[in-house]
Parts: sequence; C-alpha cells; structure tokens
Amino acid sequence: MLRSSRTLGRQWATGRAQQRSAAQPHIGPSSEPRRRLSTTRVMQIMETTGFTENQLMVREAISKICANFPNTYWQEKDRTEQDPKEFHAAVAEAGWLGIALPESLGGAGLGMAEATMMMQTIAESGTGMAGAQAIHANVYATQPLARFGSPAQLQETVPNIIAGRWRACFGVTEPDAGLDTLRLSTRATRTANGGEYRITGQKIWITCAQVAARMILLARTAPRDDAAATGLSLRPIRKMGGRAVDANEVFFDDYAVPASSLVGEEGAGFRMILHGMNAERCLLAGEALGLGYAALGRAAAYAASRVVFQRPIGANQAVAHPLADAYMRLEAAKLATYHAARLYDASRTDDPAIRQDAVGVAANSAKYLAAEAAFTACERAVLAHGGMGYAQEYDVERWFRESLVPRIAPVSREMILNYISEKVLRLPRSY
Ligand SMILES: Cc1cc2nc3c(=O)[nH]c(=O)nc-3n(C[C@H](O)[C@H](O)[C@H](O)COP(=O)(O)OP(=O)(O)OC[C@H]3O[C@@H](n4cnc5c(N)ncnc54)[C@H](O)[C@@H]3O)c2cc1C
Repeated sequence: MLRSSRTLGRQWATGRAQQRSAAQPHIGPSSEPRRRLSTTRVMQIMETTGFTENQLMVREAISKICANFPNTYWQEKDRTEQDPKEFHAAVAEAGWLGIALPESLGGAGLGMAEATMMMQTIAESGTGMAGAQAIHANVYATQPLARFGSPAQLQETVPNIIAGRWRACFGVTEPDAGLDTLRLSTRATRTANGGEYRITGQKIWITCAQVAARMILLARTAPRDDAAATGLSLRPIRKMGGRAVDANEVFFDDYAVPASSLVGEEGAGFRMILHGMNAERCLLAGEALGLGYAALGRAAAYAASRVVFQRPIGANQAVAHPLADAYMRLEAAKLATYHAARLYDASRTDDPAIRQDAVGVAANSAKYLAAEAAFTACERAVLAHGGMGYAQEYDVERWFRESLVPRIAPVSREMILNYISEKVLRLPRSY
C-alpha cells in the first residue's frame, strides 16, 4: 500500500486545456444548425452572497486549478477507470490538501467551512464525485489524526499528505457490519513485546485504497494469540460511477503495523473517528451541492439553446419549472451545509456552548438535504437534455450516476432519518 503519487499534472493539464479551447462549443441561444457533443465548462449558478471572504477566495483559487481539467479529462478517466493522479497532484502542488489542518502542522489553518467550499467547487467544476473522492479523505481523515495523533505521528504523516506524496483513505465499513459500525469485527491485537499490532479482518468500499499510502483504520482491540500468516490484500469493486477512483475490499490477515501507529488512546477509536465522520458529512454535503449545481447549470444552458418546435425548450414551463424548483432545493441545502460546517468549526475550539450532538444533527441533516437536492437536480438535468442526457459527452449522465453516492455514503438516508427520529424527536430507537 505504499505508493507516492506526485506526477506531471501541470504538463498534462496544459495540453488538455489547449485542446479544449479548440473544441469549445457554444452555450446560449442556438444559431447553429448542428448538434454538438459537449465539453462545455460548467456555468456557476450558485448564489454566493453571504459567504465569507475566505470562502470566496478558496472558491476562486480552486476554480482556477479545476479549469485545467476539462470535462473530457473526467470523461476519459471514468471510461478508462484510471486514477486522476494529475488532478490530485495539482491540488497538492497548490497547497490545498492541508486546507483544514493547523498552520503549526503546515496546513492553511482554515476550517471546515472553507474545506466544504473547496470540495463543492471541485465537484461543481465538472469533476463530479470522482474528483472530490480523489481529494476528500486527505481532508477529513486527517481531522482525527490532527486532533488525537501524537507529535511523532503528525510530524511523519501530515507533511507527506499535504505535499501529496502520500494519499490517505478511511477504513470503516465492513461487509458483515454494514451501517452497524459498532459491530465491526476487524481486530487489532498488540503483540506480546508491544511493538506491533496484528490486524485481521476485512473492510469494504475503501475508496482510494489502491493509491493510498496511509489508512485511518477503525479496528476492534481484543486479546488474541499471534498467528503465523501475514498479509494485506486488496480487491477492486466494479461500480456504477466515480469509476476513476478505486473502491476496494481490503483483507487483513494478521497484518503487522507498528504499535506507534495507534492514534490516541486504545479503546477510544470510535469516539475519535466520529470527529472525522462529522467532517466527512460536511464535505460530502458540499460535494453533492457541487454536483447538483453543475448539472443544473448545464441543464439551464441546454434548455436555453436547444430549439424544438421553433423555440428554446426552456420556454416551456414544463422544462423550466423543474429546474427552478431544483435550484431552490440546492440553495436551501446550501444553507444547511454551511451552517453545519460553521458549527463543526466552532466545536473545534472546545466552546462549551457548542454541543457535539448539535454538530452531529446539523452535519447529518446537511448531508441528507444536499444529497437529495443533488439527486433531484441531476435527474432533471438528464431529462431536460432528452436523448442527449443519455450521451456520455454531455456529462449529465455521469453526474447522475455519481449523485447516488452521497445518498448512500458515508451514511444512508434511512440511517440519518433514524438518527434524527431518535436524537431530535426523541422517538424510540429503531436500530
Ligand atoms: C462509492 C462508495 C464509496 C465508499 N467509500 C468508503 C470509504 O472510503 N470508506 C468506508 O469506510 N466506506 C466507504 N463506503 C461505504 C459506505 O459508507 C456504506 O456503503 C454505507 O455506509 C452503507 O453501508 P452498507 O453498504 O453496508 O449498507 P447496509 O448496512 O447493508 O444497508 C443496506 C440498506 O439497508 C438500510 N438499512 C439498514 N439498517 C437499517 C435500519 N435499521 N433502518 C432503516 N434502514 C436500514 C440502509 O439504509 C441501506 O439502504 C463507500 C460506499 C460507496 C458506495
């Protein structure tokens, strides 16, 4: 699992950017008789009033990086199932992987409110979930590490992740536990001399495990005899969308890791990983928003330019109204998302007025609302394109496939509804 991913992002991106300007299609009222396959850049439609200067600065800087990676790049990566390592390298090179890490660790010292904006901007640029997934674990999985890791762990790991030399992944889900995370069975057993943990068990759906150098792993600690076999193996999962990034079954068979890699106290892992999970929900909500706004912007441009019955299809309210409704759903989810991110940041200051359960409710609600709004926007974008919504070149089919991801992961819609029913409405626990 030890690989580094520094590559020639700038060279590649320059070449592709030149190609794109040569093939730039129109948007706007149609004066052309022929349909074109699209590499159109995404129109930004989100209302930005009310964001802070830092958030807007992040949005602008990230947009500039993303502009070097046109939709054709993401189409090709999706088709060939190749890791977008050039994109990861470009984001690292510009110093953004440490956006939410303290300056003392070499990070930018910004918060989840800015990191969420970064992830939204990435997805919104047309990368979809694939671009976001190539980046996001480096941002959220490092949160528990930054808070609970030892100085030696931080010194060894964080600079390498920020510089893009190491990539990180998050190992929580198990095939037999599913959403019932407390029932996980992967075991980490300290060896008799105390120098190592031996890990045995299985994880599933671990994004970027093929390219990651480090995994934040949630494992159960329990006494166990040492066994002779050692090993770690990965099996990629073929999937519906976000194909550029790998997702894996990960098998540990008495796999040894140094005892010094334990983050925080033994036995407190679940509490610590919750810290990463709330961050993850904020980022996923932002990514879902980005996906939704991208699809909707594309749909609006198409509805304005596609002429049928001698007028733009967007002149029909049956086409326009579902898009207008999708916009308002995204805007409402945006407020919930940035509210959650702000609460998360406030909770990092140990302000006793910010309750952890309030952060959990806000982060889960935001993820739910943003995922649903994104799915609605993506589905309507496909339908507004008619047959072309089904063509790969128009991107909306890719975004539609990917819009299922934030509905399922990192926690499903049903489990969020269970959680809100129990924690907010005080109804009997149903799970
Ligand atoms: C693209 C992708 C990337 C992922 N990346 C990662 C990763 O990097 N790291 C990682 O650890 N995991 C990752 N996951 C895993 C993801 O977090 C899980 O798939 C998700 O949490 C759902 O768990 P499960 O698949 O085991 O579903 P299950 O637990 O099997 O649930 C199946 C269905 O039953 C419903 N259900 C179950 N119990 C209840 C109940 N009590 N009440 C109501 N409904 C219920 C669920 O809502 C769901 O609809 C990824 C998943 C995907 C699809």
